Parts: sequence; C-alpha cells; structure tokens
Amino acid sequence: MPDLGIAEKSRISEPVVADTGRRNAESPDVGRNAPAGGAGRNAMTVDVEDYFQVGAFADIISRADWDSLPGRVERNTDRTLEMFSDCGTTATFFTLGWVAERHPELIRRIVDAGHELASHGHSHVRVDHQSEDEFRADAGRTRLLLEDTAGVAVTGYRAASFSIGPTTPWAHRVLAEQGYRYSSSINPIRHDHYGMPDAPRFAHRPDGADGVIELPMTTVRLFGRNLPCSGGGFFRLLPYALFRAGIRVVNRSESRPAIFYFHPWEIDPGQPRPDGIGAKARFRHYLNLDRMEGRLRRVLADFQWGRMDHVFDIG
Ligand SMILES: [Zn+2]
Repeated sequence: MPDLGIAEKSRISEPVVADTGRRNAESPDVGRNAPAGGAGRNAMTVDVEDYFQVGAFADIISRADWDSLPGRVERNTDRTLEMFSDCGTTATFFTLGWVAERHPELIRRIVDAGHELASHGHSHVRVDHQSEDEFRADAGRTRLLLEDTAGVAVTGYRAASFSIGPTTPWAHRVLAEQGYRYSSSINPIRHDHYGMPDAPRFAHRPDGADGVIELPMTTVRLFGRNLPCSGGGFFRLLPYALFRAGIRVVNRSESRPAIFYFHPWEIDPGQPRPDGIGAKARFRHYLNLDRMEGRLRRVLADFQWGRMDHVFDIG
C-alpha cells in the first residue's frame, strides 16, 4: 500500500472544517484522528445481527420467530474476529442486545480481542418506529445489558437501518441522557429505506457542545450529491477499485477518516434463505456474498483501520 505514508497521515491530522452540509455545531475537533488513540486512520465497524434480523426481511419474519430460526451470528462473528486477527485490525462491534442475551461468551470474546463493544439497540427496531419513551427504554436497557455482559463501558450507538432522522429530533438528546457519548446512526444519502441527505457529512454535535457526537456514515461528494462510501450492500455491488478511490478522496482531499460497516452474515454465502423475500430485498441481501470476505481482506490491507473510539476524539 504505497499510498499510506507517514507524511499523508500527518496531513490527515490537521484541523480541517470541510463540509458541504449544514453546520449546526460542526466542530473541527471531533472529526480528526484522536492524537492519543493512534489506532488508525479510518474506523472499521460491524453491526452484529443475524441474517433474519435485517430490516429488509422485517415484513416476512416476525420477531416472535427469531428464536426458532437456525442462528448463524455466533459462527459468523467468530469468523469476523478471525479475519480481524489475521489482519491485525481492531474494530467497533455495534451489537444487538438480543444477541448479547443469547451469546454472552461471544460478547466477551469480542472484548477480549481488543475491540470496542457498542450498542445496536435491543431488537433491531427502527428508531423512527419508536416513541421517544420507547427509545429511551430500549437504548438504556441495551447499554446496561451490554455493559453487564462484557464488564466494559459502552459509549457508542448505531440505530437499526440508520433510522435517526427528521422525524426523531429527540434521538441524540435521549442517547446523551442514557449514557452514550457518540452515535453513528445517520447516513447522509438518498435511499428508499433511510437517509438524511441534508445532514452534515462529518462529525458534529446535533444538540450543541454538551450533546453526543454524531459520526455519520462516509459519503463522497460528486455532482452535487452525496454518494455512499461506507460499506454495506454498495460495497458488494460496486467494483472494489471504485470504492477504494472513494475512501482515498475522503482521506486525502477532505483529510477525514472514513467509517466502514458490514454485517457478519455478509461473509456467509451458505446462510439459509427464507421463503417470500421480495426481488429487490433478495438482490440486495445475497449479491456477491461469496466474494465479500475476499473484498474485506483487501480493504483491511489497503487502509489503516481502528475502533471508533480510537479514531475519533469522542471526548
Ligand atoms: Zn442492523
């Protein structure tokens, strides 16, 4: 990886206010690599949930049936841990409370391997499908459950399906109340299931200086639009070189760390395929699963990665 020299790394650490969106409480201090952390330039994240818990399947698989389906999350997360160990990468694992209740040893293996444990809510209910009180209870309960299971502090939150947006103006305030210090729940793109294209593209504090930091999913600005460059289905769909070029633009031209995410089920082409999945959801879910692990290993080798709480100065 000839493009990852020391000189460039120091350039990335310069304070920059590069943003094309709103500037509510945008701060140069929270988007830089934390000087003390030093673990990596970009943030690697995993949303720990099983293949049947994804938002796109919510209409055909009820939560009441989850316990009766053949689970793969433990095996797939262990494979993810192996891959990170091979590549010397640490990451942040945004984990469902539902998974922690059923696989407490897995949660401890995540933490024992040096990764950050963070919250993905209890049962993958979209934040914009919850009332403020329901969200308060879910976010608080999940943080305590994860902390009790692992014996470490949990300070990060990621909403199911990036579902914090214009209809949930209370969400960041509630997260702060419930002991979280950062959120990575906004994807500033246009998408049929989520997205907040007018949100700031980089680290900001939606409720001002005392509120939690929002660390939005990475986008590339092109032709006046934000294009997704943070992983997920787009990473399996687009040619790898295009994706790599996008992260380089964010690192070099905008001097910002990228945030990458994927799910353990994305490296499991042998997962059971439930009946009744619509054509679009089927395409998105199963596309290139057999190539995903190879692509991940490339992206792990081509860039430097670390945990969210090491890459960003979350205060
Ligand atoms: Zn999720």
